[in-house]
Amino acid sequence: MQTEVVLGIGGNKGDRAAFLQKAMEALSQQAMLVGHSQIYETEVWGGVATAGNFLNQVLLLHTQMDPMELLEVIQGIEVQLGRTREQHWGDRTIDIDILYFGDQVWDSPSLTIPHPYLAQRSFVLQPLAEILPKKIHPILGKTTLELLAECTDQGQVSVWKQAN
Ligand code: ATP
Ligand code: CA
Ligand code: CA
Repeated sequence: MQTEVVLGIGGNKGDRAAFLQKAMEALSQQAMLVGHSQIYETEVWGGVATAGNFLNQVLLLHTQMDPMELLEVIQGIEVQLGRTREQHWGDRTIDIDILYFGDQVWDSPSLTIPHPYLAQRSFVLQPLAEILPKKIHPILGKTTLELLAECTDQGQVSVWKQAN
């Protein structure tokens, strides 16, 4: 059975756009990539990272994996792309989070779906609103656009344009 999965990817260390591209390529070898948002440049959220603004993007994939298998795959790709876990919410080359897994709700020590901070992050909600404006959060019962309208996160989020 194919499930529609939504991933949030982002990073603020090294060649940020190249890491997003490599993450998207690696993921599309493991699942079927069916859509993606534009790339957004976003201010640091949570006040821990110091290397500067992030680039973030939201991807839509179809997969036959189950949630734990997908978590293993994304963690393998993070390691492959040089992710080290020094500090929670710290600087990183690439972070891949599972935002939604179909309409499933999952809560285990290593995996929470929908992603627990999704509704508090404009850097997630804005790209999500671009590709899935009407998707309903299975716990909060609201669409992406409703969540975005209610979100109080003041962090700047804007479409990123590659400098030529
Ligand atoms: P945040 O989760 O607040 O975005 P982070 O992405 O910086 O912070 P990480 O260090 O990348 O946090 O991940 C910590 C752990 O979170 C992972 O080892 C993983 O087991 C767990 N985790 C729980 N739910 C999810 C999810 N929906 N997607 C990805 N990882 C998750
Ligand atoms: Ca994250
Ligand atoms: Ca993560």
